[in-house]
Amino acid sequence: METRFLELTEYKKNGKIGPEDEAKLQEAAGILRAGGLVAFPTETVYGLGGNGLLKEASRSIYAAKGRPSDNPLILHISDMKELEPITREIPHRARTLAEHFWPGPLTMILNKAEIVPLETTGGLSTVAVRMPEHEVARRLIALAGVPVAAPSANTSGRPSPTTAAHVREDLEGKIEAILDGGPSGIGLESTIVDLSGEEPVLLRPGAITAEMLEKALGERVLLDPALEKPLDPSVHPKAPGMKYRHYAPKAPMVIIQGKEGNFAGEELLRVEEAVDRQVDRSLEDGKRTALICSDESLSYYQKRYEGPLAKGQLILRTMGTRNREESIAHNLFSVLREMDEVQAEYIVAEGVNTEAIGYAVMNRMKKAAAQQVIYV
Ligand code: AMP
Ligand code: MG
Repeated sequence: METRFLELTEYKKNGKIGPEDEAKLQEAAGILRAGGLVAFPTETVYGLGGNGLLKEASRSIYAAKGRPSDNPLILHISDMKELEPITREIPHRARTLAEHFWPGPLTMILNKAEIVPLETTGGLSTVAVRMPEHEVARRLIALAGVPVAAPSANTSGRPSPTTAAHVREDLEGKIEAILDGGPSGIGLESTIVDLSGEEPVLLRPGAITAEMLEKALGERVLLDPALEKPLDPSVHPKAPGMKYRHYAPKAPMVIIQGKEGNFAGEELLRVEEAVDRQVDRSLEDGKRTALICSDESLSYYQKRYEGPLAKGQLILRTMGTRNREESIAHNLFSVLREMDEVQAEYIVAEGVNTEAIGYAVMNRMKKAAAQQVIYV
């Protein structure tokens, strides 16, 4: 299939949908209504959209991504009015969270209505719903006139796409169209909170933190046990960890994390030393090695590894600044994708402070590293 590449030039230039963009959005909406697939920008990552009420469209999404069909999709809406028809009831908590955080990077799990096919929900009786903030996403959904089922627009297992070029790498020839609206702002997938049970449960951390949800709800939000599996600090990177990898570059990856997680003073020195040990060993093994750090430690590693960097044996990349974990969230998936491009054979990454959005960043990094973390 030939993939239409629809660049929203006016939106990319001045942040507003222009008349030419609007025509391209109309075309994309038509594709969605007819059961085809369109990748589109959102403030979190690019989504791979299909008509969420058509089981055939959901099947096509799973096929294009190579994703197991028991992994449910998120339905995207553009207005509160669109929530009622797809849910059995709207609990009070959902209204409160919608008032606080919609449109925005929050997905809520609710009990589904009949019209939502089981193909969309991975066979579950619940449905995940989000109202994105991105103007292009909202306009597309409104024009389509149906809830848009959309997982991240990547091949299953690869890092999520934060640019149209990433989507093209993975899905060109497999979907009808790609809408290019420039890079995604946040760079990490939405926060997911389950509101279908007795108590609210955080299933996936994101830019909206558990603390923010608790503040809005005025009650505790539980963490899904899978998020907080106590990791044995003595786990050696070569030991088999939890084998589940996701968001992952092809090469094995290890994270060096400070025990206190604040990356200051003594702890920063311990992290740098432990990174050095890992990198030295990998270089000695003759492996093309990648080192992922932060702006703050970049010049240290540049000096320490002048030789291997000049010879191209070591690839050094920064994810962003520790003063603003948002910058790291924004760049993380691009950097992880680049690891495949540069054909890294072993990746050593500094961890990040797990306050606020840093918790979501570490969650994605740990999955990319198959939970291989060394605490120092
Ligand atoms: P993605 O769209 O690639 O960001 O992935 C969608 C995420 O939403 C996956 O982690 C799913 O497991 C989760 N999800 C979607 N629907 C549900 C649901 N009904 N219950 C629990 N998790 C869900
Ligand atoms: Mg995904």
